[in-house]
Amino acid sequence: MGQISLKGIKKSFGAVDVLKGIDLEVGDGELVVFVGPSGCGKSTLLRMIAGLDQPTAGTIAINGTDVTPRSAADRGLAMVFQSYALYPHMSVRQNMAFGLQNTRMARAEIDARIADAARLLEIEPLLERRPGQLSGGQRQRVAIGRAIVRRPTAFLLDEPLSNLDAELRVSMRAELSALHARLGATMVHVTHDQVEAMTMADRIVVLRAGRIEQVDTPLNLYNRPANLFVAGFIGAPG
Ligand code: ADP
Ligand code: MG
Repeated sequence: MGQISLKGIKKSFGAVDVLKGIDLEVGDGELVVFVGPSGCGKSTLLRMIAGLDQPTAGTIAINGTDVTPRSAADRGLAMVFQSYALYPHMSVRQNMAFGLQNTRMARAEIDARIADAARLLEIEPLLERRPGQLSGGQRQRVAIGRAIVRRPTAFLLDEPLSNLDAELRVSMRAELSALHARLGATMVHVTHDQVEAMTMADRIVVLRAGRIEQVDTPLNLYNRPANLFVAGFIGAPG
């Protein structure tokens, strides 16, 4: 189960109100994409869900339990970043094992999870390499693998494809969609790329200056944008 509920989420940095009251329900197994212009608060909102930062007001519940006071480690979510954030001095296998080593998990279980994820992502031949010996696409697969081995309640992906060249981005988009279908996991995916949002999302959340403008399926957003901003952003004739 990976149901996420946001109620009245606000975030201010000093005098700057970055999130101005966000209410959103993400269903179990749903792939929700946050879109919106640079600086509108997408990463900030994702960090609140992950527990990497605390909201100024509001509550975050996972499967009906209020997790707002809990740290990132106690929320059972996994975040994937644009920058991959792999440890350069460790092998791919060590990078994937790293997050599991403090959990008292048996070595055999860790190895089995790495083997499963490596098979799923087709990175088995890369397990003993270092990140510096990998292409951008391979590094992003490893970063996703590191999230998968944790068997998280939900995956939070912050512009995971934006460092890739255009061609690779299109193929990784399809890979991520296929992975979502196979894992059946809840995913919250942030992008500033409209095409990525339209092709991947079950529902799109359009953000503007810290507020939600509209939440709907790609088709409904395209056909019935709530206002000119949404129409302009999704690319339908306004
Ligand atoms: P997005 O991911 O949509 O591009 P962000 O969530 O990164 O936007 O940022 C939203 C706004 O919050 C920006 O104006 C940014 O400068 C500001 N911001 C984000 N993090 C901090 C921080 N730690 N301190 C101060 N301002 C921040
Ligand atoms: Mg961002």
